[in-house]
Amino acid sequence: MSEGKKWKWIDPHVHMTSRTTDDYQAMADAGIVAMIEPAFWLGQARTEVGSFKDYYSSLVGWERFRASQFGIKHYCTIGLNSKEANNEALAEEVIDLLPKFVLKEGVVGVGEIGYDDQTKAEDKYYRLQLELAKKVNLPVQIHTPHRDKKSGTIRSMDVSEEHGLDPTWVIVDHNNEETVKEVLDRGYWAAFTIYPFTKMGNERMVEIVKEYGSERIMVNSAADWGISDPLAVPKTARLMLERGISEADVHAVCYQNALEAFGKSGQIKEEDWSGEEGIDQRALFNGNSVLRGGQKPQVDDPNIVIN
Ligand SMILES: [Zn+2]
Repeated sequence: MSEGKKWKWIDPHVHMTSRTTDDYQAMADAGIVAMIEPAFWLGQARTEVGSFKDYYSSLVGWERFRASQFGIKHYCTIGLNSKEANNEALAEEVIDLLPKFVLKEGVVGVGEIGYDDQTKAEDKYYRLQLELAKKVNLPVQIHTPHRDKKSGTIRSMDVSEEHGLDPTWVIVDHNNEETVKEVLDRGYWAAFTIYPFTKMGNERMVEIVKEYGSERIMVNSAADWGISDPLAVPKTARLMLERGISEADVHAVCYQNALEAFGKSGQIKEEDWSGEEGIDQRALFNGNSVLRGGQKPQVDDPNIVIN
C-alpha cells in the first residue's frame, strides 16, 4: 500500500456474533472502521420466535457495543433468512416481529433475504419482506443461493422488480463471474463474498474489477461460524493495489460503494467514525463489559492539553 496513507475499509457483510474479540482487534488494526452484520441463520434451525427476538436484540444491542469497544462502528440488516423461511409456522411469527426491529438505530437494511432452495415458502417470505423494505424505506440485502446460483439470482431480481423496488436500493450478494454482468446491467449493486479456499478467492475478484470497473461493486467477507476470513476486505484491497487496480477503484469497492448503498437508510454516515470519540473500554452495556477481571481497559483520551 502507498506509504503514509491510512486506508479505511468497510466490511458490508460479516457475522460478528460468531467471531471473537481477536477478530475485532485484527479488523480494527487492518483499518476496518465500519461493518454491517446481516441477520442470518445460526448453523441450526431455531425453534421459537423468542430466539429470533433475542438474536435481533443482540444485533442492535450487545454486538454493537462489543464492536465499539474495538473502535469499529457496527450496523446490521434485519430479516428472516431463506433457510428458516421454510418453517412456515415459525416464519409467520417472525414476520410479525420484524417491524419492531427494522426501524431501530443502526439498522441499514432488510436482509439477508432471498432464496436458498428456491421453495414456495422462501418465495412467499422473500416477497413479504420486499414489501416491508418498501414500506419503511430501507435498502434490501439479497442472499443469492449457492445452488442454481444463476437462475436464483435472476429470479431474485425479477421478483424484486415485480414488487416495484428500485434496483439502486437493492444489494445483490454472493455474486460470481456468471452473475455479475446481468446484476450490473439491470442497475443493482453487486456484492462479492471472498471465501477462502473455495468458490470466490480474491484473485478472481481482482480480475472482476479489472473487467467491470468499480461502479456499484463491493467486496465483503461474510465471515461467520464456518471457515472464513474476517480480513477478506483489507486483504483483497491490498491484492488489488498490488495488481495495479487504481486507488480510486479500490476505495470504491472496499469502502465508498457500501457506504453509498446502505447510506440510503439514513443510518450510516461517514461522520459516525470520523470524530474524535476513541475507544473507552471502561464502558458497560447493561452492566457488562468485554473485559474480564484484572484486564486493563484501553482508553483513548482525545484531550492532549496539559494543564
Ligand atoms: Zn451472510
